[in-house]
Amino acid sequence: MTRKDKRDYYEVLGVERNAAADDIKRAYRRAALQWHPDRNPANKAEAEHNFREAAEAYSVLCEPEKRVAYDRYGHAGVAGVRIDESTFTDFADIFGAFGFEDLFGMSGGGRRRRRPQRGSDLRYDMTLSFEEAARGVQTKIKVPRLEVCPTCEGSGAKSKSSVKVCDTCAGHGQVRYQQGFFAITRTCPACHGAGKVVRDYCPECKGDGRLEKTRALELRIPPGVDSNTRLRIPNEGEPGATGGPPGDLYVVLEVKEHPFFERRNSDLYCTIPITFPQAALGTEIYVPTLDGEEAVKVPAGTQTGSIFRLKGKGLSNPNGGGKGDLYVSVRVAVPEKLTREQKRMVDELSATLEQDNRPTQRSSSFFDKVKDIFG
Ligand SMILES: [Zn+2]
Ligand SMILES: [Zn+2]
Repeated sequence: MTRKDKRDYYEVLGVERNAAADDIKRAYRRAALQWHPDRNPANKAEAEHNFREAAEAYSVLCEPEKRVAYDRYGHAGVAGVRIDESTFTDFADIFGAFGFEDLFGMSGGGRRRRRPQRGSDLRYDMTLSFEEAARGVQTKIKVPRLEVCPTCEGSGAKSKSSVKVCDTCAGHGQVRYQQGFFAITRTCPACHGAGKVVRDYCPECKGDGRLEKTRALELRIPPGVDSNTRLRIPNEGEPGATGGPPGDLYVVLEVKEHPFFERRNSDLYCTIPITFPQAALGTEIYVPTLDGEEAVKVPAGTQTGSIFRLKGKGLSNPNGGGKGDLYVSVRVAVPEKLTREQKRMVDELSATLEQDNRPTQRSSSFFDKVKDIFG
């Protein structure tokens, strides 16, 4: 377009030659909104032309000095004048509503090339029984995820020849509009910054380059894991976009409770009832552990709440290192019903026992007691 073809700036904005600054700004805002290229997908070229024309007209008429020069000498009076920063600030005001940066491609120093992006991390939740968690599991899991399309190897194109350098931006990913002194750069609307366009899409993935697939993975869960243990499996997340590295897969574990074992880290706790004679005379009891029963000697005179430690009968530490312990607390169980004969015998015993019903110290919890006794 030569200078002679250029429309009059007042005419472009549809204002009188003596219009006030506010009216000019309003007119420009109206024109810019009307001709914003994103709002005119059907006639982009025309919209872009009108949009640039309005922006240029405004950049001159909004500045008193330039406006005077323009009024006196026409387009020749303002040729070569550089737009100063304040003009852009005004644009920012006006376009704030729908993305000033997108429009002018100004963020990141005006370079908005699409960069390879790392794929998303995936999370897989898995529930284990207490025993599985204790022993460790070797299992297969099926993870639904996006995978690189094998047909097009992620390009999204039907064949190599159907990927072309973008005509609009000549592969730069951005376009620069220059007219006289006025230049703006924005992300290429044809290729959205990729610099390449696909003419024929891959029939398998419809141009996305990725396909939803269920992938079977071999998974080894170490013994001793607990609820909320997170296992990271590197590079088994989703593939990256435009050649980026894949994300990671996180397997998050939930371990079911055991009917009588309670766990704290690698240690196990359980409570076993014994009878009064067992407690008074001493005995040997059989305590269940994760690997079979274990005999435990209960000495004569054992009290309710006495704790016995079975070393190394707890859980493995999944991060390596030794095993935890099993702590057994005994509780002297009182029979709820007695036969006449039993009652007579207890009576007889009772007559020989010293009665002492004074309060004793409040007893601490199982865990605190273990800490007190075993450190
Ligand atoms: Zn392009
Ligand atoms: Zn494909």
